[in-house]
Amino acid sequence: MSESHPAIPIAKPDLYEEEAEAARSVILSGWVTQGPEVAAFETEFAAVVGSPYACAVSSGTTALHLALLAVGVRPGDEVVTVSHSFIATANVVRYCGATPVFVDIDPATFNLDPHLLSRALSRRTQAILCVHQMGMPCDLAAILDVARAHGIAVIEDAACATGSGVLGGDGQIEPIGRPHADVACFSFHPRKAITTGDGGMLTTRERGFDEQFRRWRQHGMSVADTVRHASSQVIFESYPQLGYNYRLTDIQAAVGRIQLKRLEDLVRRRRRLADRYSEVLSEIPGLVLPVEPSWARSNWQSYCVRLPAELDQRTVMQHMLDSGVSTRRGVMCAHREPAYADVPVRQPLPHSEAAQDHCILLPIYAQMTEKNQDAVVGALRSACEKVSKA
Ligand SMILES: *Cc1c(COP(=O)(O)O)cnc(C)c1O
Repeated sequence: MSESHPAIPIAKPDLYEEEAEAARSVILSGWVTQGPEVAAFETEFAAVVGSPYACAVSSGTTALHLALLAVGVRPGDEVVTVSHSFIATANVVRYCGATPVFVDIDPATFNLDPHLLSRALSRRTQAILCVHQMGMPCDLAAILDVARAHGIAVIEDAACATGSGVLGGDGQIEPIGRPHADVACFSFHPRKAITTGDGGMLTTRERGFDEQFRRWRQHGMSVADTVRHASSQVIFESYPQLGYNYRLTDIQAAVGRIQLKRLEDLVRRRRRLADRYSEVLSEIPGLVLPVEPSWARSNWQSYCVRLPAELDQRTVMQHMLDSGVSTRRGVMCAHREPAYADVPVRQPLPHSEAAQDHCILLPIYAQMTEKNQDAVVGALRSACEKVSKA
């Protein structure tokens, strides 16, 4: 292939004229940082996921940091989570001065295995940080059972899971973010289902948490700058506590509001593509396809397949790239990174490591055509054949 970019990328954001127009209006309005667009985005996001509160922040990572602080994670504490996730999941635990305690995943769903949870808990455990990896909901019911029995808070890393859901008792789909645990944290990075460039959201039922998020994201200030700006009285703000600058801008929020309107359609397209992958890929011998539990509704942020054990991951990926198809290796493991060399691993993590080493993520994005998808399947099939003959 002579082009410098692969013909089929791993992902593609769904941003169009309407988003550009929304950003343009804000730029020309005279108020560009956190203001009325952020407030409207929060109200609309809360309505879509069915949460009483939603607070917008600058990224999924900053959302996770504030969620852990809100449930009282402090230096010396432990937070039980997975190593098999984007590194931000583990990093935010360390921002709080706490130690991540890693639990292995269920190889079928790539999510925290609830059976391994209780043995990871200690007197120091302050929270469980579970991940809806690649948009697939983790087994919250089982995780919450263990957490409640021990009086431990649960934070959902829902960075990938905007538009995912779980089946409720009444047979209805309950969106991730309701939230099912104490706080759910979303990301609007371009690799996720909807994007604002960068951005994040926290949803919770606890009014006190929501008020705290709003102070923390704005330097710990006693009064929001929109309030000061609109006041006919002179207001002197104060800084009663340490805060951060974790604001989303109104430019981003205006884009997010348009993206949110597209969400249902984008997820429907992704689900159709995932179904079709599962159908056509079943013909490739030895390939293990991702599993959606009967109670889960994934937004299919990523579609992750496990290669036959004897096939080298990098070689398969290179063959695919040579034929114009971009892929990624399985989700990383934080405990294998140099930045984690001094964080002890207390439980063996064989399924996490195997998923990183033997899985590849295939391109999936809402604009993908059946022809694109057939090209991916063809490239994967011939790569597997070539590598197994070599
Ligand atoms: C993307 C991602 C994050 C970080 O979100 P940002 O918005 O990029 O900060 C955290 N956790 C998981 C599982 C993610 O996929």
